[in-house]
Amino acid sequence: MSQCEKCFKHLNECQSCRGRGGSSGLGGRLHCSACKGTGLVCNTHGGFWKK
Ligand SMILES: [Zn+2]
Ligand SMILES: [Zn+2]
Repeated sequence: MSQCEKCFKHLNECQSCRGRGGSSGLGGRLHCSACKGTGLVCNTHGGFWKK
């Protein structure tokens, strides 16, 4: 399990993409905007948990 690189809290599975980081579209892989394609979100920082 990963943790936020800013506040070191446990990351939650992104509810928008169910932890997959995006979905497959006609034009290729689409990055989930909620988690920035990581599949994980921080309660405080959302998808911006990477430094
Ligand atoms: Zn955080
Ligand atoms: Zn997502």
